Formats: sequence, structure tokens, C-alpha cells
Amino acid sequence: MTAAVQPAPTATSPHRDVWLAMRRGFRCRCPKCGEGKLYTSYLKVVDRCPVCGEELHHHRADDAPPYFTIFIVGHFVVAALLAFDELWPDAPLWLHAVLWTSFIVLASLWLLPLIKGALIGYQWALRMHGFDERQE
Ligand SMILES: [Zn+2]
Repeated sequence: MTAAVQPAPTATSPHRDVWLAMRRGFRCRCPKCGEGKLYTSYLKVVDRCPVCGEELHHHRADDAPPYFTIFIVGHFVVAALLAFDELWPDAPLWLHAVLWTSFIVLASLWLLPLIKGALIGYQWALRMHGFDERQE
């Protein structure tokens, strides 16, 4: 995630701020303008930004968003479960099952589009895949 892998900006391809694009994507907005919606439905990415017209169908997020979602949610769940077990060591197992299953499902569904958006912003900022207008 360093700027060193980013192609040098030219007169026809200005510098793209990686962190800004990732923040915009995390907010489910277009990585270029930050205004247009990134999704047409839960995880379906728009072909073009409705505001600035930037083509967004080039993204190749693939299985990276679920990987990072599981990684993040898993760390929170393990920490919360250990803390919960210290506070209430005799908690019934049904409570653990209901509590942690609900948390894992809801947190994953909430986080998945945000992480996918951030990864699309990352790919856009680094001109990965078809996001480099110089290769078209
Ligand atoms: Zn846009």
C-alpha cells in the first residue's frame, strides 16, 4: 500500500490520492468525485459514476472484501468473547450462540460493502486493472 507502486502522474493522468480514494470508497461513494453512489444494490457496483461519469466497472475486488471482512470481524469477536467470558464466566451457552452469531452476521453484512468500496478506491487510485486510462 505504498505510493511507490503508483505510476508516475503525467499531464494526461494526474496524481490520485490513495487514502482519499479509499475513504470515499469506504463511504460507498465514487473514488474520483466522492459524490456519486458506488453501488446500485448491496454489492453491485455501478458501471459509471452517475455524477462524474468515471468508469467503475474495471474493479476486480474479487474475494478480497470477504477476506478482510472476516479478518476484521474475527478479531473483534475473539476479543469481545474473551472479555465477555471474563465478565460473566457462567453465561449459558445459548446466550453465546445467539449473541456471537448475531454479531458476526450483522457486522459482516455492515462491513462488507464498506471494505469493498475501499478496495475499489485503492484499485482506482493505483490505476490497477482497467482504471488506467493510458492503457485504453
Ligand atoms: Zn464520480
